[in-house]
Formats: sequence, C-alpha cells, structure tokens
Amino acid sequence: MTGERYEADMLHGLSRVGRPLLVRYDLDTIRAMIPRGMIAARPTDMWRWRELLPVRHTADVVSLGEIETPLLAIPSSGGPNALVKDEGRLPTGSFKARGLVMAVSMAKALGVTKIAMPTNGNAGAALAAYASRCGIETIVFCPDDTPEINVREIAAQGARVYRVNGLIDDCGAIVGKGAAEGRWFDFSTLKEPYRIEGKKTMGLELAAQFGWRLPDAIFYPTGGGTGLIGMWKAFDEIEALGWIGPERPKMFAVQASGCAPIVKAFEDGVEHAERWENAHTVAAGIRVPRAVGDFLILRAVRESGGRALAIDDDAIIAAVDGCAREDGLLLCPEGGATLAAYHRALREGMVDPSDRVVLFNCATGLKYPMPEANATLDRHQEIDLGLL
Ligand SMILES: *Cc1c(COP(=O)(O)O)cnc(C)c1O
Repeated sequence: MTGERYEADMLHGLSRVGRPLLVRYDLDTIRAMIPRGMIAARPTDMWRWRELLPVRHTADVVSLGEIETPLLAIPSSGGPNALVKDEGRLPTGSFKARGLVMAVSMAKALGVTKIAMPTNGNAGAALAAYASRCGIETIVFCPDDTPEINVREIAAQGARVYRVNGLIDDCGAIVGKGAAEGRWFDFSTLKEPYRIEGKKTMGLELAAQFGWRLPDAIFYPTGGGTGLIGMWKAFDEIEALGWIGPERPKMFAVQASGCAPIVKAFEDGVEHAERWENAHTVAAGIRVPRAVGDFLILRAVRESGGRALAIDDDAIIAAVDGCAREDGLLLCPEGGATLAAYHRALREGMVDPSDRVVLFNCATGLKYPMPEANATLDRHQEIDLGLL
C-alpha cells in the first residue's frame, strides 16, 4: 500500500502504480453519529450499512433485493459448530450480486454508459442484471468452457457475451485493451474500487449475526479474493467505530488443487503469487490463475493466523454430495470446497472442534451440473410400490 490519496466521487480504475484502490470513510464522524443499536433497528438488507458504502444517493441504488443471507447449520455433514452463509439466495443466485450492485450503482452515479468484464460466469450474470436494469450497455467475455447456464443467463439478462478460447485473465486482456482505447469502462475484479465495498457487507452481516463477536474462523473460496479482502477491511472499519473488539477470525483462503496460486505463494512465504499454468477445476468460480489483489489476500490470511488450503476436485464433489444428501443443502462446488477444507483443517488441528466457523456457499447449487437421476416407471404396467 502506497498511502496515495485519490478524490472521492470520481471514476477510478487501478492506482497510478497498477494496484487496487480502497475506499476510505470518515469513521470518526460515523462513530459519533451511528451507534451500533441504530443499525440493529434498520431492515436487515444490504442498505442498512449505507454509511459504510460509497453510494451517496438512494436514487442511484440499482437494487434487485439484496437480502441478508442466512447462516445455516449443517450438523450431519459439518458437525455442531459449522454454519454455512448461504449466498445463493442473493439476486442472480450468487454473492457476485453484492459487489456488482455497488459497482454498477456507482458507475451509474458517475455517468458510465458502457462496461466490459471478464468473468467465469457469476460476475457476468450479476453485471448483466444490474447494468440492464439501469440502461448501461455491457459486453462480457468468458472462457469457452464456462458453465453453459452462466453464459445463457448473462445473455438472457441483456449483455453481449462472448466465449473466448482462453482463461479469465486472457479475457481480461481483451477488456483491458478496449478500455485503454476508450471503448468501455473496465469492470475486472478489483480494477475499480467499489465492488469490494459491496463484498465487504458479508463481513458486516457476520458481525451483526454473531451479536458483534466475530466467529473463530472463516473459510472463503478464493478466486480474485474480493470477498476475503473486503471482509478484512470491514472488520477494521467496524472496530474503528467501536462496534467490535480487536479479535479477528482466522481467515482460510480455499482454492482448488488444479488452480492454487495463492496457496503456493502462502507456502513459499512470498507477497505476490505467480500465474498458475493449465488451471483446471470443477469449481469454475475459483479458477483464477492470477489475482491483482494477491498481496491483499495473503496479508489478510497471514495477519489473521489462518491458512491457504488447496482441495482436490474429488473432495469438493464428495463434500457437495454429503451436504446435499445428509443436510438437504445443495452447495455450489466452491462452497463444497470450503466444507472439505474445514474437514481437513479439523483433521490437521488448524481449527478446534469447538471453534465456531463460517463456510461460504457463494452461489446456489442449482446453477451447477448434478448427478444423473434417470429411474423411470411405466404407468401402464403393474407397479410394485413396495420396491420403490
Ligand atoms: C466469484 C466466485 C468465487 C470467488 O470469489 P472472489 O471473491 O472473487 O474470490 C467463488 N465462488 C463462486 C461461485 C464465485 O462466483
């Protein structure tokens, strides 16, 4: 962090040295004006945190109903102390809605008319939905093996979407080139400052839901890391407001073994991650070979006393299956990765069985391929009901 300052209420991309910009608030004034109890008395949606969010005028909010997501116990597959924060209930079925509602609302407020973005699917869907809703034109680029449903929902919600024969950073290069030529505004992860502000509301909600004492550990499936960086920032802000104390959860950055640049950098003890070559995993949302915010993710994980963990696809699939069969909650593969990582952390003593942990399920499991179910019955034949 360079400590350089940039004007508020202006359109920004990366800093002059090519790093993400972080929004700062006048926390002393907020502290004097907004006691914790005032937040508790408001409706629980995302906008209850408005003093800690960048949108200044309610008229600029492009809402699709950003509810507070529930914390659900999964006692059979996760044990007595694991709670799933189920982000699949947000608009467009993923937590990308939190970031994109904020970034699009700010873009609208600042007069942007055309946006482009590289995506593994969910971010593009959320962008398309919010931008179409307020008349901003969008062009979305995704790897050609992005889940079919994601590509279609992006198109259905009014964006022009192109499949590119490469990975998300290859898509990002196309977006960057067009942005440099002045064709559109670049909405890549962390390349504009407001998405992270939306994502940080996950941390604010957790604080409120846990009665202003944070959980002991958070398992976060990490691609670009916006949510992890955002929550870490949120915790500092509400500590400055006197709403929580100095205690912090251990932050676990969970990646897939087939794409684990942050895990490698964590283990190597370095501050920046190298690009992960030949990235592959069933968990498309965390197939991010290179993250601009790598150093911010690594810093938060290290400061928190947490770890970065890589999980095999087999274990991811088994976790999704177990949670659905035993607890009736259909996780997305990335959410399954957090459950598998929690089991591993328990086995290896990184967390204690009595620790209260939060696992992030970032999208509805309904968006992802499911095991076949093709049993049939012929109603014209005698059916032995006892065999069913
Ligand atoms: C985007 C995404 C992630 C990764 O989130 P980041 O905050 O960018 O690290 C994980 N899971 C799903 C389903 C996603 O769409």
